[in-house]
Amino acid sequence: MTAAVIERLRNAFDPAIFEEPSGIEVDGCEIIGQLSPRDVESLCQVLALLNEQQIPVLIRGGGTRIGLGNCPDEVQVLLSTRSLSGVRRFEPDDGVVEVSAGTPLEEVRKAVLAKGWELPIDAGGSRATVGGAIACAAYGPRCLGFGPVRRNVLGLEVVNAAGTLTRCGGRVVKNVTGFDLAKIYTGSLGTLGVISGAWLRLQPKPRAIEVRVAEFSQTDQALAGGIRVSRRSSARACVLLSPEVARRVGLEHSLAASWILLAEFAGEASECRHDAAWLETEMGANRPSVSSGDDALAMIDAVRDSLVAGPEVAGVRVRIAALGTKLESCIRPLTKAGARMTVDPGLGLVFAEQAAGSGPGEVSAFIEVARTAAQTASGTLVLESVPSEFKRGIDVFGDELGPELALMRKLKEEFDPKRLLNPGRFVGGI
Ligand SMILES: Cc1cc2nc3c(=O)[nH]c(=O)nc-3n(C[C@H](O)[C@H](O)[C@H](O)COP(=O)(O)OP(=O)(O)OC[C@H]3O[C@@H](n4cnc5c(N)ncnc54)[C@H](O)[C@@H]3O)c2cc1C
Repeated sequence: MTAAVIERLRNAFDPAIFEEPSGIEVDGCEIIGQLSPRDVESLCQVLALLNEQQIPVLIRGGGTRIGLGNCPDEVQVLLSTRSLSGVRRFEPDDGVVEVSAGTPLEEVRKAVLAKGWELPIDAGGSRATVGGAIACAAYGPRCLGFGPVRRNVLGLEVVNAAGTLTRCGGRVVKNVTGFDLAKIYTGSLGTLGVISGAWLRLQPKPRAIEVRVAEFSQTDQALAGGIRVSRRSSARACVLLSPEVARRVGLEHSLAASWILLAEFAGEASECRHDAAWLETEMGANRPSVSSGDDALAMIDAVRDSLVAGPEVAGVRVRIAALGTKLESCIRPLTKAGARMTVDPGLGLVFAEQAAGSGPGEVSAFIEVARTAAQTASGTLVLESVPSEFKRGIDVFGDELGPELALMRKLKEEFDPKRLLNPGRFVGGI
């Protein structure tokens, strides 16, 4: 099978598009070839040929989270968007940017910031691309202020599994007629089409930024404080970090601290200063006492980037979504199990990791604790990072799938009937 696939790809594509990498494995699938179409036209040709020859592919953006999702069905070829890169059109007067999907978010952030705009898509990792962030519907701590990814995607250019170029939405919200397909592609983990370009809504760069840190020794007080901070009008990020995570992102704290609260206020100067002063009084914010302006952005940036599982994460990282009022019952068993945590009380999210070097028994036990913690808080659990051997036979998106699964399966059948795009990756093995 492998030799036959290589032969077919070698015959079909020139070496500038098809490479044979060695020793790459994704969730137990040995990768024998990578296709890197040089532009959208070439992407259409590549997909049409793969469709004709029935060769399935894993789509790769920056590769920061290529292992996310359920174990893929037998796949040996990567389809990389690395050459589909660059800002196509930036309209500073309207706050809209059109970009190719393989463009690193960092590049778009810099380009728009120079004209007073911010890209309100908060995925972490310096290599993460626009396409990857949209495919994962990725969010970071600034989701509190930015809103979810789907809100900031105005339109998409997508090449379907048969190799046909399609467009949905456009550069203004008003262009959306009929079904808003961009919402369907956002978060579908590359299972419905290959995103090749996007029109994104921007937000004006805030006039002021104030960052404050507070410490808590009790979980209930930390959560109550975090929820109150999240409700302040200028709060655009507010997270509680367990001590190990705080140290990893460069925040010092006292030995007595169980939770370190980090809040970013952004907007008009008077409003931010008012909210920051409120926090200092109400929470006894102490360290560092004040951090303002552009330099202060680095603190939440570091938390955002730490949410992309790096080598320091042993291989297990879970995300639990629960009601803010039920977070305490979720956190308690995870703390007991020694989890390192980032908690977003305003969004009701808990990200919990297991320390490096855990054996198979410990990994299973940790997953079980996380599952029970999610149930106790009537929340949902996603295993975001877990060694492949633990993924087999389970659904990383949770086992209690609702009636919407049948609808999602139908969508997959319509969009990708031969199961060629990220097959098996998504909810219910879609
Ligand atoms: C369920 C889930 C929750 C996450 N939560 C967070 C979070 O809270 N915070 C955070 O910072 N990060 C989170 N991530 C990870 C974050 O989304 C990724 O780090 C980043 O967005 C991936 O960008 P990338 O270019 O490196 O994509 P890759 O790692 O290369 O690919 C990621 C996924 O997107 C698909 N994909 C990539 N490009 C395209 C494209 N052009 N068209 C179609 N599909 C494509 C890939 O096949 C793969 O399935 C989450 C991801 C998932 C799936």
